[in-house]
Amino acid sequence: MTIDVINFPDNKVSCSNCRANCCRLEVLLITDTGVPEEFVELDQWGAMSMARLSDGWCAALNRETMLCTIYDLRPLICREFEMGGHECLVERA
Ligand code: SF4
Ligand code: SF4
Repeated sequence: MTIDVINFPDNKVSCSNCRANCCRLEVLLITDTGVPEEFVELDQWGAMSMARLSDGWCAALNRETMLCTIYDLRPLICREFEMGGHECLVERA
């Protein structure tokens, strides 16, 4: 008998069992969602992105809970990053 590991709840794709790998990616700010200034980084060409700290994670990520501290104000890219979508699965892998 083969065991289908996908049926085990712990193996389900969910942000709650993920170390929020997507919050290490570069997040460009292409619309104004109200991200607080202290989390915004400006490059030499004037493009805005989420600041990342020396550990590589987004500055707005709570390191203890691994949850977004500005969830209601999070950038459009974060809103559109689909849990279980291709990019999510790549990050989790
Ligand atoms: S969207 Fe995907 S990669 Fe990001 S925290 Fe959720 S499960 Fe993890
Ligand atoms: S703004 Fe929030 S959801 Fe987006 S990368 Fe940063 S911590 Fe993650």
